[in-house]
Amino acid sequence: MRTPLVAGNWKMNGTRETIAALLDGILAGIGDVKAAEVAVCPPYPYLAEVGQRLAGSPVAWGAQNASQEEKGAFTGEVSVTMLKDFDCRYVIVGHSERRTLYGETDEVVAAKFARVRDAGMAPILCVGETLEEREAGVTEQVVERQLKAVVDKVGAAAIADGVIAYEPVWAIGTGRTATPEQAQEVHAFIRGLLAGHDGAVAEGVRILYGGSVKGANAAELFAKPDIDGGLIGGASLVADEFLTICRAAG
Ligand code: PEP
Repeated sequence: MRTPLVAGNWKMNGTRETIAALLDGILAGIGDVKAAEVAVCPPYPYLAEVGQRLAGSPVAWGAQNASQEEKGAFTGEVSVTMLKDFDCRYVIVGHSERRTLYGETDEVVAAKFARVRDAGMAPILCVGETLEEREAGVTEQVVERQLKAVVDKVGAAAIADGVIAYEPVWAIGTGRTATPEQAQEVHAFIRGLLAGHDGAVAEGVRILYGGSVKGANAAELFAKPDIDGGLIGGASLVADEFLTICRAAG
């Protein structure tokens, strides 16, 4: 039985003031979330404060990215050791914005997955196709290539220590959600790929859906057998909306 996870990706949004209010709102309603695990991923500068505020609460925290390097002369980068120092449980790797805006290749993403896992945190590995790729009918090839790079790097068993997020790029921040059927199809495909390596890993790993999830569409997405929660962007910045999504997951 997989415990659903709802993770908020705040991206480059918020101030100390708005984040404090957002956390107040989430903590006020989190008691109604019975069976799902909940996490938030703030921008780096707020991690310490968010961690202090959430310590002892049911809400975990994580980062939106990490360097693939261990330490040293990498101006502007943040290492997994630093994130672990602030008790991050999760680190998002390979978000499509990192892949498309910052040129992260499958190999870089795989290296980040390995680093995060080696540091004792759970990588949330994002995979997903662009609109062009979906229309060209190559969604499965794209997702398979992205996943294979990580499996080749760390081995299939290591995938069990992470989380996968299927995020069709055309659905991120666009208000255009994949239908539950479209999402389920790709989630089942991903689980099938993993089953080809290791049945137990395939059965146990959580596969989140991400892409314009809202309070209004979360329940029907999460009802699908291979959708184990969501990675939430815009809607995670509004406490009530985020809580509605969390309740839909459990
Ligand atoms: C995301 O950035 O991971 C995401 C899913 O964003 P949104 O929910 O805003 O589409």
